[in-house]
Amino acid sequence: MTPDATPAAPAIRLRGLRKTFGDVVAVDSVDLDIADGEFLTLLGPSGSGKTTVLRMIAGFELPTSGSIELAGRDVSQLPPFRRDVNTVFQDYALFPHLSVAENVEYGLKVKGVSKTDRRSRAAEALAAVRLDGYGARKPAEMSGGQRQRVALARALVNRPKVLLLDEPLGALDLKLREQMQVELKGIQRDVGITFVFVTHDQEEALTMSDRIAVFNAGRIEQVGTASEVYEHPASEFVAGFVGTSNLLRGEASRSVLGLDGVFSVRPEKIRIVDPGAANGEGEHGADGTVSEVVYVGDATRFVVELDAGGSLVALQQNTHTSSSDVAGLRGSRVRLVWRREHEYRVA
Ligand code: ADP
Ligand code: MG
Repeated sequence: MTPDATPAAPAIRLRGLRKTFGDVVAVDSVDLDIADGEFLTLLGPSGSGKTTVLRMIAGFELPTSGSIELAGRDVSQLPPFRRDVNTVFQDYALFPHLSVAENVEYGLKVKGVSKTDRRSRAAEALAAVRLDGYGARKPAEMSGGQRQRVALARALVNRPKVLLLDEPLGALDLKLREQMQVELKGIQRDVGITFVFVTHDQEEALTMSDRIAVFNAGRIEQVGTASEVYEHPASEFVAGFVGTSNLLRGEASRSVLGLDGVFSVRPEKIRIVDPGAANGEGEHGADGTVSEVVYVGDATRFVVELDAGGSLVALQQNTHTSSSDVAGLRGSRVRLVWRREHEYRVA
């Protein structure tokens, strides 16, 4: 054994992290390792503790107990400026009277970096966010998405090891947000910096992340890749928060699956067949009545009340059907069928 055989420390290591505000337990028992260069998303509903975790990593809040390591160094009690991290917030307040380049350079100027170095580093940061040539503009002459990228450049110019992003796309309208999700992921891949990204939007998390940590009431319920979290939810909460809640429980589990417990089946894994049809090899199925039909363009969502109790949503691609074909199906008797490997126990 040589010392070299020790694996490199993760970019961020959280151990037993806890934060209380008076009686409120904002964050509890959080353990998480984030790898160097990883895009990790903290996903959870409002009030689940995501921002508090980010603020503790940045040093704006001190943990009540537990520890934070950055690249193997315990920084739990260090002030923000002694930590190699930068934060991008949703309301990124650029200075309106300064040019884009001056906004990006501002932090370096405060630190006393020379003018020549400031210029070249700002140009480099603007190139990284695909804003070459925009340096002379004023923020008011930029679109919302461009201003958000200036805010990102302002953080990247410090060349931090870790970038913390708290709902940075929350203020953008849907189309722009979807475009920025793809761009931000591309920028992260190019610069190779570890990103810790906070959102309450499950689609955003699924689109962008290498891994997702799902938060509920101050705790992490599950950590995994997008497909792990989506296809193998570890709890009822995760099954419901990430994707459509589609659960079989109680009597429905017993009669349809022959098992006790709560099980999740994703809507797109369910096929609709004629009522009473026999299950194929390796399949489970349940009869029911269609209670809702929602045409969503490329697909149709069917809500089916099961004879065994409860309801399931089935999503069918509209490859051969149009909105008028599906509208008349409300009230019809159907059978839902899925492959057994697509059902997961969540409780
Ligand atoms: P999220 O970012 O997931 O919406 P937060 O981390 O902001 O959640 O908040 C988690 C919980 O901690 C909430 O109940 C919130 O009201 C509480 N909280 C956060 N910051 C403070 C504070 N400075 N003082 C008191 N309570 C706080
Ligand atoms: Mg928050």
